[in-house]
Amino acid sequence: MTGDGTRAVRAGLPAREPYEPTLPGPVFAAHYHLPGDPADATYTYGRDGNPTWTALENALAELEDPAGDASAVSFASGMAAISAVLLSQVRPGQVVVLPNDGYNLLTPLRERLEGFGARVRTVATGSREQAEAVRGADLVWLETPSNPGLDVCDIRELADAAHREGALVAVDNTLATPLGQRPLELGADLSVVSGTKALSGHGDVLLGYVACRDRALADGVRHWRKIVGAIPGPMEAWLVHRSLATLHLRVERQAATAPLVAEALRRRPEVTGLRHPGLPDDPAHQVAAGQMRRFGCVVSFTLPDREHAERFLAALDLVDDATSFGGVRSTAERRGRWGGDDVPEGFVRLSVGAEDAEDLVADLTRALDVAARG
Ligand SMILES: *Cc1c(COP(=O)(O)O)cnc(C)c1O
Repeated sequence: MTGDGTRAVRAGLPAREPYEPTLPGPVFAAHYHLPGDPADATYTYGRDGNPTWTALENALAELEDPAGDASAVSFASGMAAISAVLLSQVRPGQVVVLPNDGYNLLTPLRERLEGFGARVRTVATGSREQAEAVRGADLVWLETPSNPGLDVCDIRELADAAHREGALVAVDNTLATPLGQRPLELGADLSVVSGTKALSGHGDVLLGYVACRDRALADGVRHWRKIVGAIPGPMEAWLVHRSLATLHLRVERQAATAPLVAEALRRRPEVTGLRHPGLPDDPAHQVAAGQMRRFGCVVSFTLPDREHAERFLAALDLVDDATSFGGVRSTAERRGRWGGDDVPEGFVRLSVGAEDAEDLVADLTRALDVAARG
């Protein structure tokens, strides 16, 4: 098996054809020439399939499951992928376990599932209650590390317990990306990712995908995509595929810089609740180190209050005040401004980009000095 960098630059490329491009450009087609019986056709209609998706999906499956033979289904966004799994798999009366500290749109999705007659339990990522909630469940949703709190749960342990109950296990792998963590190898049935974040890494495209080994499960999710039409545009799919070639470089750089930034933040008395799974003394580090291959780009911490955090964010030059994470340009935001996460008013989620670490540290330190003056 090749290394991660080699795999990332070549993932999903077609066989070499003289005088053809290495990565063929996006195919724009609403329909395809379709003689005779559609059952034999590879491509029929633009909502059902597209060669640009196929290439990307092959690449994503390769990254999520290099030693296995998983397949991937791409979607218009991470939420389209998450909704596809939950809404296509859960039946009335079934029990679903969701994190209560995961991506904030899990809350309206929970209401939708309950409206359809499912019973939903919510638990904190990495808590003892999470292991207990698996009992009698039909689908267990994990998000690790969780966004934005950066708590971590043991995928292998929870997947084994869930499988003893006959439950499906899905992991939101957005924060880690497949180069940070491979949930399918850790026993999960599905790995679900928002490619909008670190996977594409340039802050210019929305996309999501589901990867799984079970063909029938993949078919069910793909069929859901067809029914609701949550398909990625060919241009978006191509942009994400193109971005995969630098995924390894980006996540390595981000994962190397994040602890340096965190250590600089730690030296500040006004910073509390500093979290990054790569820090040896982080409460999540031990479990993270057992299943993650890179610890990601997000560092979270809390400043004394909302005004302090706002002054800090406004004073930054190299870090944009923006939502999302995982981009080559560092971003930070006060998560409390959205109202959906259970975090203190001064809570800041910082996404470390590809800038030089010393420049970032200097900018953050200067902005903290500005903010501290009031
Ligand atoms: C952003 C995000 C999503 C949603 O993805 P979109 O592409 O914005 O729809 C889901 N899960 C996590 C952990 C995220 O960070």
